[in-house]
Amino acid sequence: MPMTSLVPLPTSLEGVSGIDLHMHSTASDGAMSPRELVALCQARGLTRLALTDHDTVAGVAEAEEAAQALGMRVMPATELSTQWRGMNIHIVALLPQGVCGSLEAGLVAQAAAREARAEEIARRMEKLGLDDALARAREQAGGPRPLGRPDFARALVAAGITPDIKTAFKKHLGSGKPGDVKAHWPFISTAVEWIRDAGGVAVLAHPLRYGTTRRKRGLLLDDFTAAGGEAAELISGYQNPDTTRDLARQLDERGLYASLGSDFHFPGGALAPGSMSPAPRSAVRPVWRHPALAAFAAA
Ligand code: AMP
Ligand code: MN
Ligand code: MN
Ligand code: MN
Repeated sequence: MPMTSLVPLPTSLEGVSGIDLHMHSTASDGAMSPRELVALCQARGLTRLALTDHDTVAGVAEAEEAAQALGMRVMPATELSTQWRGMNIHIVALLPQGVCGSLEAGLVAQAAAREARAEEIARRMEKLGLDDALARAREQAGGPRPLGRPDFARALVAAGITPDIKTAFKKHLGSGKPGDVKAHWPFISTAVEWIRDAGGVAVLAHPLRYGTTRRKRGLLLDDFTAAGGEAAELISGYQNPDTTRDLARQLDERGLYASLGSDFHFPGGALAPGSMSPAPRSAVRPVWRHPALAAFAAA
C-alpha cells in the first residue's frame, strides 16, 4: 500500500484491490477536473478506474491522458440516466471501445434530454420562488457543463429557500418531488441497446439506492437482464454486509457480473476514490472478468 493512502483500500472481488469503476468529475456533477481526480486516485493507491460522468464522456480523454503519464488505466465510461416504472434508474456503461455505434446518437439525445429537463426543472423551481432558476443553476455549475439536480439544489440554498443541499433534495428535488423530472430519459432497454451496440458492458448502478423492496429490486434486475444488461454494482460506497450478501445472491441467480465503485463526487465527504465496503466471498464473477474487459484487467 502506498504511503499516501490514508485509509487502507478494501480488498475487493477475488482479492483484487485498487479498482474503482464509478466516479465523477467536473464533466458532470463532480468537483474535481478529470486530471485532479486521476492524481487523487493515484495518491489513494488505485491503478484502474472508470470515469462515469452523467450522460457524457467529455472528461474521459483528459483522464486517459493523465492516467497514462502515471501508469494507470482508465476505462472510458458514462452513467446513463434512464427511467423504469416511474423511477430514475442509472446504468453505468463500461466502454472498452469508447463511444461508437448507436451510442453516439444516444449521447447526443441524452444531452438534449438533460437540457430540456433542466428547463422543466427550472419552471418548477420558479413556482417555489426561485426566480430565474435556470440562470441561477447555470451560475452554480460555474461552466458550460450539462446541468443536473445538484446545481438546482445549490441554487435553492444560495437563494435561502432551503438551508442545505440535503433538505433541497428531500423537499424539492429527490424521488417523487417536483424537481424529479424523469420523462425525458429513455427506458432501460434503449440505453442497454446503445451500450451493447458500442461493444460495452451495461452495469446497473447502485441497485440498493433506489429505495425499493428486495422483491422490486429483483424485478428491476430481471428486466435489466432481459434487456441485455450483464452486470450490476455489488458494492457502491459503504453498505450493510448482510444486504451485500443478499444482493450477491440476486446477481448470482441471474448470472450477472459484479462491479464496484465509490460513486465519488467531491473531496471532504464520507467517500474518496476507492472508498467502499469490502466484497463478500461469493460465486459472482467480477465484471473485469468479462471477455470485453480483458485488456483492462490484464496485469
Ligand atoms: P441528475 O443527474 O440531474 O438526475 O442528478 C442526480 C445527482 O444528484 C446524483 O448523481 C447525485 O450526485 C445527486 N443527488 C441525488 N440525491 C441526492 C441527495 N439526496 N443529496 C445530495 N445529492 C444528491
Ligand atoms: Mn451525481
Ligand atoms: Mn447514480
Ligand atoms: Mn454516479
